[in-house]
Amino acid sequence: MTMDKRFRVELISATPCPQKVIYAGMHQDYSERFVFDEIDRFPSEKRAGEIAVSQLLAGGRGHYGPLEHPQIVLNAGWFPHSTMQQLRTHRISVSFDCQSFRYTGKRLYDVGKKLLSPSHPWDLEDDIDEVIYFRPVSEYSDRQGKRYAYTAEQRLEDIEMAALSLQHYAKRIDQGFAEEHARGLIPFDVRQHWVMSANLRSLLHILDMRCTTAAQLECQQLCELILPHLQAWVPEIAEWYIKHRWKKPRLAP
Ligand SMILES: Cc1cc2nc3c(=O)[nH]c(=O)nc-3n(C[C@H](O)[C@H](O)[C@H](O)COP(=O)(O)OP(=O)(O)OC[C@H]3O[C@@H](n4cnc5c(N)ncnc54)[C@H](O)[C@@H]3O)c2cc1C
Repeated sequence: MTMDKRFRVELISATPCPQKVIYAGMHQDYSERFVFDEIDRFPSEKRAGEIAVSQLLAGGRGHYGPLEHPQIVLNAGWFPHSTMQQLRTHRISVSFDCQSFRYTGKRLYDVGKKLLSPSHPWDLEDDIDEVIYFRPVSEYSDRQGKRYAYTAEQRLEDIEMAALSLQHYAKRIDQGFAEEHARGLIPFDVRQHWVMSANLRSLLHILDMRCTTAAQLECQQLCELILPHLQAWVPEIAEWYIKHRWKKPRLAP
């Protein structure tokens, strides 16, 4: 399925040498000594990752505790509101800061005002698609497996409906409504940006739950955009993850 061209996931920050950090935790579990005193003799980042895989993860060992030390902070952008809602059902060792449209309605207002201008022709790419997400034209199926087509004509009709909502939103703001009141007029899949942080264990759990076909399309695509950050950050663990868990349906324990 084509990915929306505006979807983005960018790295804000991440614990440096995360696989060495995991090694430190793991090593302290078994070492009589104070592991800080051996820090100069820790294995390389790559070797630490390999040890983490073989000692903590391989063969379903499930010794995930040391994976809770490294932390990553990501910025997700231009996803539909529904994706943000799905992500925010995860509560353990994950934190979010999301646009609420209480303080951030201006880009919607600007599009609504532009559309209200009699001389302005509706422009899918530059105006409405920038602020409201619509799935690409394609074949889809519902949860019972019934297939249907989302055609270009239907998509345009939906965009025109959204244009009316945005115009109405701008009108209400001009009438003095608070953003938190007028936001009820915004189409549901308004594009939203958020910052999220997780530790490596909680991030892998989110990927477990949201990268499979049981999850909704946009959530799967979010996971696809998170994956390269995982690979760059913890390459050996990411390699194990992709081989053993990526896109393999799992129930939360
Ligand atoms: C395909 C799919 C469809 C879904 N549909 C819906 C829906 O229609 N409506 C809806 O509201 N939600 C829905 N959810 C959300 C789902 O019910 C969970 O709330 C969400 O996936 C968070 O999962 P989690 O508890 O594993 O994650 P986290 O909050 O990250 O928790 C991590 C782990 O901690 C443990 N844990 C967390 N909280 C508790 C607790 N209170 N008690 C015991 N153990 C706990 C569990 O082991 C859990 O797996 C859906 C999720 C998926 C993946």
